[in-house]
Amino acid sequence: MSLLIRVAVPVPFLDQLTYRVPEDVDRPIRGARVIVPLGSRFVTGIVTATDANPLDARVEARNVKDIVDLLDDRAFLPESVIDLALWVAEYYACGAGDALASAMPPHSRDRASAHKTTRMAAMTLLGRDAIEKEVSPPLGAKQRQALSGLSGAPEGLTLRALAERGIMAATLMRLAQRGFVAVRRERVERDPFVGLERHFSTPSGQPEERTLTDEQTAAVGRLSALAAQQQFRVALLHGVTGSGKTEVYVRLARVVRGQGRSVLVLVPEIALTPAVASAFRASFGDAVAVQHSGLSDGERYDQWQRIRHGDVSVVVGTRSAVFAPLAALGLVVVDEEHDASFKQEESPRYHGRDVAIMRAKQAGALVVLGSATPAVETYQNALSGRYERVTLERRIFDRPLASVGLVSMREEYAARGPDVILSDALKAAIDRRLARGEQSLVLLNRRGLATAVFCRQCARTLECPNCSVSLTVHTERGGIHRARCHYCNYSVIVPKVCPHCAGPYLERAGFGTERVEAEVKMLWPHARVARLDRDTARRRGAVPQLLGQVARGNIDVLVGTQMIAKGHDFPGVTLVGVISADVGLGLADFRAAERTFQLLTQVAGRAGRGDMAGEALIQTLYPDHYSIQHACRQDYRAFFEEEIRYRQAMRYPPIVGLVNAVVRAPTFGQALEEASDIASALRAAAAGRYRVLGPAPAPLARLRGEYRVQLFLKGARRKTMREALLHALRSRKELARRVTVDVDPLSVL
Ligand code: ADP
Ligand code: ZN
Repeated sequence: MSLLIRVAVPVPFLDQLTYRVPEDVDRPIRGARVIVPLGSRFVTGIVTATDANPLDARVEARNVKDIVDLLDDRAFLPESVIDLALWVAEYYACGAGDALASAMPPHSRDRASAHKTTRMAAMTLLGRDAIEKEVSPPLGAKQRQALSGLSGAPEGLTLRALAERGIMAATLMRLAQRGFVAVRRERVERDPFVGLERHFSTPSGQPEERTLTDEQTAAVGRLSALAAQQQFRVALLHGVTGSGKTEVYVRLARVVRGQGRSVLVLVPEIALTPAVASAFRASFGDAVAVQHSGLSDGERYDQWQRIRHGDVSVVVGTRSAVFAPLAALGLVVVDEEHDASFKQEESPRYHGRDVAIMRAKQAGALVVLGSATPAVETYQNALSGRYERVTLERRIFDRPLASVGLVSMREEYAARGPDVILSDALKAAIDRRLARGEQSLVLLNRRGLATAVFCRQCARTLECPNCSVSLTVHTERGGIHRARCHYCNYSVIVPKVCPHCAGPYLERAGFGTERVEAEVKMLWPHARVARLDRDTARRRGAVPQLLGQVARGNIDVLVGTQMIAKGHDFPGVTLVGVISADVGLGLADFRAAERTFQLLTQVAGRAGRGDMAGEALIQTLYPDHYSIQHACRQDYRAFFEEEIRYRQAMRYPPIVGLVNAVVRAPTFGQALEEASDIASALRAAAAGRYRVLGPAPAPLARLRGEYRVQLFLKGARRKTMREALLHALRSRKELARRVTVDVDPLSVL
C-alpha cells in the first residue's frame, strides 16, 4: 500500500491536502518540502503529516494525486513552527495554506533561487607550486598575475573583486582547467546591520556595563526567577515611558541564553528594529539576527537560514518573526505589546502578540509583554492573576515624566477663526525650543496636504471611484497636486474644475502631516524641519536615516504620524505637540478611547528623556473626554478602570470574544442578502452560546469596487463561534471566498 501524506500549500483558502507518495520517491518526513500538482499547476508545499487519516483519503480518494518530487531529506521548517502555523490556521479560521505561507522564508518556493550565490576563486596547492617551479606549458603573464593576486588571499576572492583588479574570468577558468585554481559557489550573507551602527551606537566614553536601577534590578530578578522555572509563563512588564525596559529584556535574555535556550524579540514596527537590535547586538554580537519585511528578500532569506542552522540565538523582528525557525525557545519578548501593528490586517489575520504567547506555550517558554500602556486585555489578565505583573514606575535617573497641557481648540477657533493649525500656545512652546536649541516633535495622525477636495458650487467632494472615501491631496515630485485614495491607491491630478458640475470653485478641506510640515517651515524658515509618515518612509533606508538625524540632533522639528510616537529614544526632544488628539475618537470603534489614550501617553513619553525636562501640549476639541483627561495625567490605572466599565456595560472584549465577518459582493443588495442568510443560519444554530449582531453596512461600505456588509458574533468561546461560521459557509464555496473572517478584530472598518 502506498503512503498517504498531508501537505499544506501556500495558496489562500486551502486547507491541508492529501497526496500519495509513489514507490520511487523517498519517504518524506514532516516539515520537508514537496512539489505537488494542484489543478493544472505545480506548487511547493510543506508536509504536515506523514500518516494521513485513511478517512480523509477515502473522501478525497478519487482525487488523490502523486507528489512529483521531494525537495528535502530533513525538515525544512521545524516541527514547532508547523504546529504553530496549524494553530494559527485553526484559531483565525484562515486555512493551513495561508498560515504556512507566513512561516516560509521568501524565495523558498523554488530551488533555483533558494541559494543566492557568488563565485569565488582560490589558489590550490598545485597553483602555489606552479608559481615557484617551472611548469609546462609555462604560465602566461595574466595567469601569473592572477595567481600572485590570489596568493595573498587563502580564503579566495570573489570573481567580481578579481575583475576589479583586472583579472578576468577567462584567465581563471584556464587556470582552473589546469588545477591551479578552484572556483566554487558560496552563499552570500548580506548583513542587514551594515550602516546601522552609525545611527545607534552607544555613545563613546559610556561604560560597557551599566548599573541597573533598583527597579530594573528587582524586575530582572523576578523575571529571571520565572525563566528559571523553564516552563510556560506570561509576565506583563508595565513600565512607564523611559523606564529602561530594553535593558531589562537584554539582561533577561542573557539569563535565558545561559540556560542554552534562545530568545525571540518582537517589536511593532520596522522602524524600531534598528535600536532594539543594536541593544541586543551590543551584548550578543553575531548571535543576533533580524527578521522583518523591510529587508530585501535575499537578506531575509540569509538571516532565516542562519536561524534555521542554529547560528543565531536571538531574533529581533516584527510580527512575522514570530514564525522564526528558532530551536529551544526559552524567552519571547513582545515590546510595546499594546501596539495595533501586531495585528495583520490581511489573511491570515493573526495578532503577533497572541501567536507569540501560543508559541511560548508550545515551547514551555517565558513571555514578557512590555508596555507603558498595556492593552486592556493584557492588563485584565495581569489583574486576574493569569499573568505576572512586574512594574517600573520611575524613569531612569528619576527623570520626571513630561508635563502635559491641554489646548481647547474650540476656544482657539472662536478667537482666531477655523483655519488654525498650530495654537498660540504650541507656537510659543516651539519658539522656546528653537531659541534654546532643543528639539520638538509634532504629531498628527493623518497624512497628506488636505483630506478632502470639495466644490463650493455643488457641495460634492472628490471621491474614490472604488471606495466610499474622499480622496486625500498629496504633493508629488514637481509640485504636482494629486488626489489619492488611501485604501486602493487610485489617484488623479487635482482637477481645475469640479468633475460633477464643472464649477470653478474647488476648495481643499482638512489637513494632514504634509500641511503641518509646510506650516512649520513657513513659520520658522530657518529651522531644520522633517516629516516622518508612510509617504516619506517609502524610500528604502529613509526611516533609519531620518531617525538617525533626529537622534544626532540635526533636526529641530520632526512632524509625523503615529510613526513618531512609538518607542523611540531621542534625548534632545523636550517638546511634543499633538495637533489634533481627536483624530481617532470619531470612529465607530469600541477601541477608539483605548487607542487615543495609548497614542497620547506614548507620544508624551517621547519628551524629556534626556537631561532636560519635557513638556507635551495636546490640542483637542474634547478636552473633557476621559481618554484625553487620563492621558493628560498619565494615569493608566484610572483610564483602565473607566474603560473596563464601559466594556462591561457594552459587552465588548475582553469581557466577551468577538468575531467579525465581512461579506463582499459586486452590489450592495447581493452583499446584504448573503450576509442576512449567514446571520439567520448563525442565529438558528446559536442556542444561547453567542449573539449575532447585524448585518449592517461596514463603515467602509465600499472598498476596491466591492460592497461590504458585516456582522459580528459575540460570545464566550471563539471556537464555537468560528465553527458555527465555518459551518454556515461550508456548502457555499464561492461565497466563502468573499467572506473575510476576523477573529479578535482590532479594527472594524
Ligand atoms: P523604555 O523602553 O522603557 O521607554 P528605554 O529602554 O528606551 O525605555 O530606556 C530609556 C533610556 O534610558 C535609554 O536611553 C536607555 O539607554 C537608558 N537606560 C536604560 N537603563 C539604564 C541604566 N540602568 N542606566 C543608564 N541609562 C539607562
Ligand atoms: Zn479607493
